[in-house]
Formats: sequence, C-alpha cells, structure tokens
Amino acid sequence: MDLYEHQARELFADHGIAVPEAEVVELAREARFAADRLGGRVVVKAQVKTGGRGKAGGVKLAIDPAAAELTARQILGMDIKGHTVRKVMLAQPVEIEAEFYVSYVLDRAAGTFLAIASAEGGMEIEEIAASRPEAVARVAVDPAEGVTEAKAAEIAKAAQLPPETVPVLQALWQVVVREDALLVEVNPLVRTEEGLILALDGKITLDDNARFRQARWGDRVSEEHGDPLEAAAAAKGLNYVKLDGEVGIIGNGAGLVMSTLDVVAGCGARPANFLDIGGGASAQVMADGLAVILSDPAVKSVFVNVFGGITACDAVAEGIVQALESVRLTKPLVVRLDGNNAARGRAILADRAHPLVEQATTMDGAARQAAVLANVG
Ligand code: GDP
Ligand code: MN
Repeated sequence: MDLYEHQARELFADHGIAVPEAEVVELAREARFAADRLGGRVVVKAQVKTGGRGKAGGVKLAIDPAAAELTARQILGMDIKGHTVRKVMLAQPVEIEAEFYVSYVLDRAAGTFLAIASAEGGMEIEEIAASRPEAVARVAVDPAEGVTEAKAAEIAKAAQLPPETVPVLQALWQVVVREDALLVEVNPLVRTEEGLILALDGKITLDDNARFRQARWGDRVSEEHGDPLEAAAAAKGLNYVKLDGEVGIIGNGAGLVMSTLDVVAGCGARPANFLDIGGGASAQVMADGLAVILSDPAVKSVFVNVFGGITACDAVAEGIVQALESVRLTKPLVVRLDGNNAARGRAILADRAHPLVEQATTMDGAARQAAVLANVG
C-alpha cells in the first residue's frame, strides 16, 4: 500500500526525522484556520498518491490565511494524473539552502535493498538519472546488517551529501525496518538556511504482507477512497479485483481465473471482476463471493469456473447449493465443473434445478453461454 505524503510525514516524525509543522484539511474554509495556527504563511500541498504534484500546480505557497483558503479551494478537487485531490496538507514554509534525493527500495532481482541518493534533489529521480547519471549514487544495503553509521556515511559520501545527513539516513532505514516498507523516498530532503536537515516530501510503500503485524494499517485503509465492491470483498477476505465488464467471474486458483478472464474476453464479453476463491472453496466463501458479485450493478451474468483438485467438484457443487440458500440469485449463473468428481458435482447441481443456474461441460462453452446471457456475445 502506498501512503499519502501526510502519512509518510507522520512516520518520519515518529522515527526522529525532522519535518515541517503541518495540518491536513478537507475543506477550504478549514485551511484558513489551519494556516492561522501554523503562523499565516503556508505551503498548500495536494494529497494524492502520485509524484510531480508541484509541476501539476498541486503545491503552492500562500502568504496568509486568506490566501491559504483560496489556494486550498483551487487545489481541492483538482485532477492530478487521474487522482482527484480530496485533502490538502498545509505546511510551514521552509527556506531551502540545498535539495537532496534519498531513498531505500527493495531490489527484488538482487535480493537486497538499495540506497539511491543524490545531492541534486528536487526534480524526479528519473530525470536526474537521465540527465546526470553520475550524480545518482546506488549503494546496496544488506537488510540483515542494515544501515549502520558506517553504511550511512558510505551512502552520503557516494552521493556527495553533507555529513549532517548521516543520522537521517540511519533513521530512514528504521522506517523501512519498523514499518515494513518496500520503498521509502524523500525528495527533497533539504538543508535549511539554519543548517537543519528536513524531509520536505515523502513517499512510502508498505509491504501488504506485513499487514497482520502493523496495528495502524486499519486507519490507513479506512482513509482510502477505494472501490466499494473491493472494500466489501476485502472485508470478507476475498481475493477480488473489480474490472469494467458485465460477466461476473468466480474461479479456483489464480491461473484458472486469469485464463477465464481471457476466454470470456475472447467471446466478445468483458469480465466484471477477478475473484479467486482458492483451493478450499467452502460454501461460505462461495456465498460471500456470489454476494459481492451480485451486488455489482454492472454484472449481467456470472460464470463459475471450477477445476476440482483436492477440493473435489462435488464439494464445490454442495458449496454452490448451500450458497443459494443464503444468497438470492438475481442473475443467471453458468457453472462449469471439471476435474475430480466432476460427474457427481454436476449431478448435485442438476438435482437442485435452480431456474437461473445452467451448466456447461467446457470452459469455452460456459464462457460463450455467459457472454450470451450478458447480452453481448
Ligand atoms: P512533488 O512535486 O509531488 O514531488 O511535491 P514536493 O512536495 O516535492 O514539492 C515540490 C517542490 O516544491 C519541492 O521540490 C520544493 O522545491 C518545493 N517546495 C515544497 N515545499 C517547500 C517549502 O516549504 N519551501 C520552499 N522554498 N519550497 C518548497
Ligand atoms: Mn517531491
């Protein structure tokens, strides 16, 4: 999960990295009061999960609280690279003497972390790397050893950062370790005219796999304005992704579900979602999955594609029959059962004889049927 700048800023502060005083608001008129509390002059910053906000007009200086309100009104609702601005952060302005770039990123190919740093911060690192590659230092960080003072000094020296950045480099590494981050980027890290080192912008990507041991995760997710169907599915622990089409998809195994999407698309219909109910596929999971898919107004038909393995088709069919007890089927369901105990599974569904449930023996046949039922095939 990517964090907003204001969330990254909080994590920096928690780990002893200096950041400007700031407040976050959702309404322009709140910006006036916040600016007043911050001393009048503020930088108004769009909170969106994308870079280049400055260039897009999403970072502006306001000279007093009245100007802060006007500027917040301009920036709130703005579209920056497809992201709508719903919050702005108001920050005390900083007199910048020098801007640096520092980041730690997981290098999956090398099986290690990488520190990337440059004394020419401010612009995007891709631009610095393209125009002055020699100005960008890359230093491998062994996650088991971490960023010791010596390692931080090595990074600072390689990037020609001033020695005052060494403790900040160490503290940023603590953000990686303690918060389970895959990426921590500060651009710019600045030296102020008073000689302080401050993180003026922050980008953090947290490792979703660490969610279970990060207590604050829930608050962050609730701040998301994500897709409501995805949120409902996530609340039920389903592996669901909303797509743009009309044919709801349920399958077991990510690979099978991916190819199901392809086959449906091949029939001239569009899949409405990805949903992998996994190997266990209990009746409850089937019912939860059906409930989410049927609540999607775009869905016209549903294709259940199951290849019985350890969980045999008869168990899956029982699951569907039980799910039909708790979920009112409002759209046609095409079921294709194949693999272990397929014949028994088909017989169970045939006995249930639900008027909206049809069976097909092949994946292609089922996809065609689902497409026709969705009125687009
Ligand atoms: P980005 O464009 O999304 O990376 O947003 P940033 O937060 O990095 O802001 C863009 C640029 O605005 C920074 O690189 C700084 O040069 C400038 N900026 C942001 N805050 C301040 C500030 O408090 N004082 C000054 N002088 N410049 C700032
Ligand atoms: Mn930036």
